[in-house]
Amino acid sequence: MSDQLFFQAIKLAMKASKEYVGLEPSKEVDVMRKLGYELGKAAAKLIESSELNTLVKELSDIWSEHGYGKLEFTSTDPMVIEVWDCVDCLGKKYGVDIPLCSFKEGFLEAILSEKLNLSMRVREVECCGTLNDHCIFHVEFI
Ligand SMILES: [Zn+2]
Repeated sequence: MSDQLFFQAIKLAMKASKEYVGLEPSKEVDVMRKLGYELGKAAAKLIESSELNTLVKELSDIWSEHGYGKLEFTSTDPMVIEVWDCVDCLGKKYGVDIPLCSFKEGFLEAILSEKLNLSMRVREVECCGTLNDHCIFHVEFI
């Protein structure tokens, strides 16, 4: 499979998992996070950067190039990742008071920990699920 097809398949997984989790978030978040994590480990093999500065740029490029939305690291200490115009944004469809992007939490966590060789936890704090206009992820080093 070409890298292009792989990253297109990730987009489909992102959309499908978000729709699925949106229906019953409390039940399925762990499964979606695990799915994202495993696919993130595979994605890490296709990503070149192993330093934070270049990895930040490469992830941002992947997001825009494959139409996932717009991803930016808005702070590095503490590390904060924000995503706008998500391809899988549910708008006001599921205002469920909890963030819904558990797939992306796992996906980003796997890529960052594999490439930087550090233990961390990526946790989404704001999301369309909480009726925010974009997603905000906090990265905690553990
Ligand atoms: Zn979100």
